[in-house]
Amino acid sequence: MQQNPLIKIRNLSVIYDKGAPAEMMALKGINLEIYSGEFIIIFGPSGCGKSTLLYTLSGAERRIEAGDIWIRGKNLSAMDKQELTDFHRESVGMVFQAYNLIPTVNVFENITLPLVFRGVSKADRIKKGKELMERFSISDLADKFPSQLSGGQQQRVGIARALVNDTEIVLADEPTGNLDSKSAINAMDIFTEINVNAKKTVILVTHEPQYLPYASRIIYMKDGKNIKDVSQQRNKVSHVVGHDQVSHGWYINTERLVGYLDLNLDVEERVKFDSLIAEYASSKITKEKFEELLDKPFTAGGLGMYKQKAMRLSEEISILIRLFKFLGNIDVSNKKDLNEKTSALTGWLLNDYIGNLSDEQKGKIRDAVLAKIKGETSLIQFQNQLDLPVKDGGVGLNWNTARNLAQKIGIIL
Ligand code: ADP
Repeated sequence: MQQNPLIKIRNLSVIYDKGAPAEMMALKGINLEIYSGEFIIIFGPSGCGKSTLLYTLSGAERRIEAGDIWIRGKNLSAMDKQELTDFHRESVGMVFQAYNLIPTVNVFENITLPLVFRGVSKADRIKKGKELMERFSISDLADKFPSQLSGGQQQRVGIARALVNDTEIVLADEPTGNLDSKSAINAMDIFTEINVNAKKTVILVTHEPQYLPYASRIIYMKDGKNIKDVSQQRNKVSHVVGHDQVSHGWYINTERLVGYLDLNLDVEERVKFDSLIAEYASSKITKEKFEELLDKPFTAGGLGMYKQKAMRLSEEISILIRLFKFLGNIDVSNKKDLNEKTSALTGWLLNDYIGNLSDEQKGKIRDAVLAKIKGETSLIQFQNQLDLPVKDGGVGLNWNTARNLAQKIGIIL
């Protein structure tokens, strides 16, 4: 039996600067249902209306032109300002790209301030603040000010603050946008934990496709409309919050793949391409079927490529998918596993490299791949290791080659 939706949106339209020459219809008749316990990612290019949808849901954006939003049966569109403020406080926690911490108060106060506004006693505020700081491994930062923290630490404070009111819904607007890749994965793992263990409904906005595997459902947006809706089996949570180890759920970053293969796809073709890759990678379709779909016209469910191009691409992508499946779940504490997989990844990385490499250079590239697998380096550090002259301890490749190889390894990490 289908449960009642937690959030129900009907024909929602939002217009900015109505009547002015710059009038902008940011949402154009959205219909959507969201269920309790979902981890939703709203995905689409910049400017397509993702944040507008999120802020309208939160009760903060009130330029609703038409339509209704019901949350737990309450109609947001019919609420006055005070009712919306109360709703916002009781029902949603917000996480922002720029963290939005208050610079003049310390970490503990940043997290617990929302409780002050609700009149919670000091003893209870201390209890709740301590509990959240422990949960996100930031207890030792309690007395620090935001400017003394790294981006990743600030975002953990931001997430703790969003949870302090223990709301059923957590909304996040590009929460990884300002983070390095390791902190970003850490933040995504925290959202997963909040969703799976604490049973919060998470709705997260991003334009970065590498985070899509975290969602239980992806809503694709374009030009103010939701154009596609995909429910999926997500990657297992491989890492518990606070443990300083790196998650090893591999994913194929289709954004980088498209760049590497030099494909020129519009948004709808990208959506199609992403879903074909996902189906192929999860063995739902065979290589032959994949090639056939690359070639088929778009109107017939394919991508409309020339036969030659479809063949070349499916060949190249089949090698990638085989490697992806071989990598599986890497166990970094198992030396043999780590060795084999480092070799496979290095081999694939260099398989179309046409220059000559000395054994020393090959060894150094392998070391750089190993560090990347272990999560010790970012992509840009990987590129720098390849680019640095041999006399300075690098591999000594030219800048362009180093950049291409960094982009290539970034497809699958
Ligand atoms: P996204 O989050 O997908 O990048 P937004 O929801 O921020 O998209 O924006 C959707 C459209 O509405 C864009 O064209 C943007 O320029 C416009 N827009 C967003 N916020 C405002 C605002 N406060 N005033 C006027 N136009 C806005």
